[in-house]
Amino acid sequence: MGHQMMLEAVQSARLCKLLESWTGEESLLQPLWDVLRLNYGHTLRSSIFPAVLSVTAYYVFCLLFTAVGLVTRRLAPHLRHYKIQASKEEPSLRAVCDCVALTIYNNVVFVFPATVAQWYWRPAIDLPEKAPSLFELCHGVLACLLLFDFQYFAWHLLHHRVRWLYRTFHAVHHECTVPFAWSTQYMGGWELISVGIWTTIDPIVLHCHLLTTWTFMLLNVYLSIEDHSGYDLPWGLHHLLPRGLYGGAPHHDLHHQKPTKNFAPYFCHWDKIFGTSVEVKPMDKSPQGSR
Ligand SMILES: [Zn+2]
Ligand SMILES: [Zn+2]
Repeated sequence: MGHQMMLEAVQSARLCKLLESWTGEESLLQPLWDVLRLNYGHTLRSSIFPAVLSVTAYYVFCLLFTAVGLVTRRLAPHLRHYKIQASKEEPSLRAVCDCVALTIYNNVVFVFPATVAQWYWRPAIDLPEKAPSLFELCHGVLACLLLFDFQYFAWHLLHHRVRWLYRTFHAVHHECTVPFAWSTQYMGGWELISVGIWTTIDPIVLHCHLLTTWTFMLLNVYLSIEDHSGYDLPWGLHHLLPRGLYGGAPHHDLHHQKPTKNFAPYFCHWDKIFGTSVEVKPMDKSPQGSR
């Protein structure tokens, strides 16, 4: 009996410790935050760090997805069934170069001046001593993703419904009907600026910790590239979350095939509410309208 009570006491102490790390005083992220803050504080405090992080992450993730494409094409053709539009040709070298060229152009003409302006006008940021709890970080990232998802949905729907807006700003992104990683930022300057403003402002509006902000930025870049990767990979969030909550790559790939549907970048609820949702048949991956 005594042994049983001791076991229960140890278990409840462990549970308390776990809950505390999620919500309370002693965050599991504190050691990581201390390493970052104490060793790289000068870099992290810089007002241009978030922009450098996002741009670097974009190129790194695109290269990773390019490697996935090369492996499935050259070394492991049996993995080709992960491809969403498997019957379509791989992107030509010319198409990839066009996308990379526009991305570099956008970075030089729009992102670089905005980053320099931030560096000039915005003071260095103070790094708080305390890390967020895991719960705060997850909650903050999810809130930022949900807010960004709504903003992009509204922007996107408007730019498809108003012909002038579509032709002037968004049509360039739809030149690509079989998306691949580098086509993610194959877009006009106005669209890139809009996305950049929301990504910067959303964590500030939601009072997120800097670690939460950077995690959101990295995840946002990754998810946007995964959306355009052309692959329905097994670790996609739409496989991990309950069915119908998150669209992922198959959902956005269908937008490039059927541009009047699936306007939200990540989650499915706004398209369902506005009747613009089209779902993927699990087996043959062909489009099947929801209305
Ligand atoms: Zn797209
Ligand atoms: Zn569109």
